[in-house]
Amino acid sequence: MEQNGSGIFPADDAIEMMIMFDRSGEITYVNTAARQKLEYEDDLCGKHISEIFPNSFRTSGDGFETDVCFGKELQNLLAYRRNLTCFPVEARVMVSKDDSEHYICMANDILEKEHLSREIEQVKQEAQQALKVKSEFVANVTHELRTPVNGVLGNVRELLSEETDRKMMKSLSLIERCCEDMHKIINNILDFSKLEAGKFTLEPRKFHFKNMMDYVKANHINKITEKGLGFFMTISPQIPEYIIGDELRIVQILNNLLSNAQKFTALGKITVEALKTARVNDRIELFFIVKDSGIGIDQADKDKLFQSFSQVDASISRKYGGTGLGLNICKQLAELMGGRIEVESEKNKGSTFSFSIWVGACEDENNNLSQFDDKRESLFSESSMAAQKDETGDAREDVRSYGTSENREALKKNLSKLILCVEMDNWEKAEMFMETVKQLTEEAPQEVKRLVLRLKMAIQKENYEKVSAAFEELNVLNK
Ligand code: ADP
Repeated sequence: MEQNGSGIFPADDAIEMMIMFDRSGEITYVNTAARQKLEYEDDLCGKHISEIFPNSFRTSGDGFETDVCFGKELQNLLAYRRNLTCFPVEARVMVSKDDSEHYICMANDILEKEHLSREIEQVKQEAQQALKVKSEFVANVTHELRTPVNGVLGNVRELLSEETDRKMMKSLSLIERCCEDMHKIINNILDFSKLEAGKFTLEPRKFHFKNMMDYVKANHINKITEKGLGFFMTISPQIPEYIIGDELRIVQILNNLLSNAQKFTALGKITVEALKTARVNDRIELFFIVKDSGIGIDQADKDKLFQSFSQVDASISRKYGGTGLGLNICKQLAELMGGRIEVESEKNKGSTFSFSIWVGACEDENNNLSQFDDKRESLFSESSMAAQKDETGDAREDVRSYGTSENREALKKNLSKLILCVEMDNWEKAEMFMETVKQLTEEAPQEVKRLVLRLKMAIQKENYEKVSAAFEELNVLNK
């Protein structure tokens, strides 16, 4: 057998036992594993193969007889140690390729293998359990953190609405921003730990696609234009008016990509495009593109982008902040929705993030719904009015005018959805309906606004009793 450069057979260090023997049955080579397991301190070479496998090999004339099949097939044999105790092995006995005068037996101790695989399984289970415990711990701690942060946020907002002293207002606004940032980070960690623990479930429902996109636009347009950047959104007319999907999570991906685009762009423009790219029966593939003309990403850093806790480099995280969880969550969400996320970017030339998702289409219902129904069917419909207000100034404006029948109806619907979320302990979603209720009551008298604030604070504190009380009072006023 050929030796490697160091003069040692490559098989010497193998875990598997290896025994070579010739036509006469004489052992010509054994590796360390075989020597140790068979408990021969000195060399086994020169002994007959039948001493190791007496049940399978017998001496015969100047050779051996055997019922073992030669080839790659695994066979169970009994191997005998020097002290004549034996153990079962799983073995392959082959004719040496380069020299048909020799045979090679490779064998594994079955009991040891079973023991090892039991140990591996146990280690795997322990690791999985540890991961589960860690994820649950993170989820619990984050959930616990949300409540006090929300409490501070609610109280600061209440103080801000009453404060007139400019210096005080500046400090309160700073606290408000810090709380909002903390809130975002906590929500990211909460989502991330749920995704990691496999406890994340999508909640598909029917919604109005354009209303959702308008909501996304309304979320970002101010910050983007304040920076002097252009903002353009195009929605393909091929996308059905109503689709079935997890609106909240689609918005979450778009919000994250747009926040990044805005964060990393100082000059130029940001564009968002939504397209329909495929259809299979009543399922369609939607494709979103978020493009910016910002700092861009190095080719070498692109692979790191979608990993958890990854930021391109430390100087970026110092300058722009963030936890590096956002894109990983986007990736996992897009994959949960049957799609994928990609990036194309060049340093200093901008970045294009795109993602696909599969959703249900309900095209046949389009024409039967009135415009007001459109608004009702989206989680984000009323707030999207803010974005549409300047462009159209049409009847949709009525829904925001406090006291109109549209406004009352929308308020009633949103309040009842909100209380349903609270009853289902889904406080995150309740907060979203709360945002819509707040927008619907922007023009309301102080008495109503105060109640809305109370409701908001009760939601932030996740206090069911206070939510119910404020809800009842608001419902009475809205009659
Ligand atoms: P975070 O939650 O901290 O914003 P993300 O996962 O969203 O983290 O982003 C990770 C990193 O990817 C960012 O810190 C930044 O380095 C890079 N990145 C993301 N989007 C862009 C973009 N549009 N332009 C340039 N760099 C980007």
